[in-house]
Amino acid sequence: VHRENAQKHIAVFAFPFATHAVPLLALVQKLSESAPDFNFSFFNTAQSNQSMFTKGNGFERIEPRSVENGLPEGFRIGRNPHEPVEYFLKATPGNYRSAVAESGLTFDGLITDAFYWFAKEMAEEMRVPWVPYFTAGPRALLAHVDTDNIRARIGINGPEDETLEFLPGFSAIRSGDLPEGTVSGVDSPFATLLQKMGQMLPHASAVAMNSFEEIDPIVVQALKSRLPNLLNIGPFILKCPPPSSSDIHGCLEWLDQHPTSSVTYISFGSVITPPPHELKALAEALEECEFPFLWSFRGNVEEMLPEGFLERTKEKGLIVPWVPQLKVLAHPSVGVFVTHCGWNSVNESIIGGVPMICRAFFGEQKLNQRTVEAVWEFGVAIEGGKFTKNGAMEALKLILSSEKGKLMREKIGVLKKLAFEAMDTDGSSTANFNFLMEFITKL
Ligand code: UDP
Repeated sequence: VHRENAQKHIAVFAFPFATHAVPLLALVQKLSESAPDFNFSFFNTAQSNQSMFTKGNGFERIEPRSVENGLPEGFRIGRNPHEPVEYFLKATPGNYRSAVAESGLTFDGLITDAFYWFAKEMAEEMRVPWVPYFTAGPRALLAHVDTDNIRARIGINGPEDETLEFLPGFSAIRSGDLPEGTVSGVDSPFATLLQKMGQMLPHASAVAMNSFEEIDPIVVQALKSRLPNLLNIGPFILKCPPPSSSDIHGCLEWLDQHPTSSVTYISFGSVITPPPHELKALAEALEECEFPFLWSFRGNVEEMLPEGFLERTKEKGLIVPWVPQLKVLAHPSVGVFVTHCGWNSVNESIIGGVPMICRAFFGEQKLNQRTVEAVWEFGVAIEGGKFTKNGAMEALKLILSSEKGKLMREKIGVLKKLAFEAMDTDGSSTANFNFLMEFITKL
């Protein structure tokens, strides 16, 4: 293939669901800023690319390229958020292979979402290094890398309360907290993907992740002994924050009107809407407690929340479809984050120093929840794993108006400081990013 000029070209494969492609694009954006003689092709579904490549700013040498989404003609998104993912996985890796072939380009390196274990083989065929980016935390990664070992030790579908003493740093983690697909639900295509990822990552050239070494030193050490060039480069959002123009609903101004650590902020990320009875229970708890609340709400508020709720809580509640979450969590008025424990949300809560009430749903969220509650001790899992009015009220009171809550705020403050230090000019994440940069520029 003819090379246009002496510039190097990196292919990037994004995973187009949940909050995966956004942090990968942020990484590529920073790499491209630091390496002006590099071009990047960002292979992703057209829909996911459209939502991110809005204004040209900062993306000059990053070309969005489309891969097939695998959806059947006329497909409409229903209640099950996993459905489009399953169709998409059926189309991989063929969709990436054809998109690369159609581009007619020769690449010098391959950076992919870590989920894409098949990229190892493609990188070998292209004779280039493969750098996967894992967008969740170190514990989830260790569970995936050690899946075969964990299955050999505790079996599949065994009791859920067995603790994992044999895994470094996991003595407070029970088998039921492990990511789906590790020891339960092992037959799904997604479980297969995760298992293969765990087997393939030790053969990558380097593994980058959106976390920092000090967050979980024992687990990070265990990972370093299993993976080549493990590079914790986060919380990367501190290096590449979202555009500042996004507070269209005036959340920050609203927060300004409330006392320090008084507001409950609620969000379940970009995919999840809790089931109706849980939404109702949470709403009732919010109504009964005196605390003000800001709710990033997906869906029709009038239909999904109790009748009259909006009217009755208008003095103390603000419900909007989207908030600038990083800034909301960094606002001094926010006292607690009711969250599904997606990794980006956990990172942002740490950056804001805000304790969490956790209601995990799927993927590695339960593991994050258990870690927040039992290892870091700056949050609680919702009692019984699902919202009830009483459970939610108890958790809110515990964090917003008890001594224990204060202690949790102090504990998360310690990790917040470490996160900022890691991203400082002489911090560990900065050193790791520089290593990654050097690795890439040597290609
Ligand atoms: N987010 C946001 N505003 C909202 C809700 C979510 O900016 O109103 C962002 C949040 O800051 C985070 C991401 O969406 O970066 C959610 O990522 P996470 O990994 O927590 O959950 P996922 O979307 O993958 O389920």
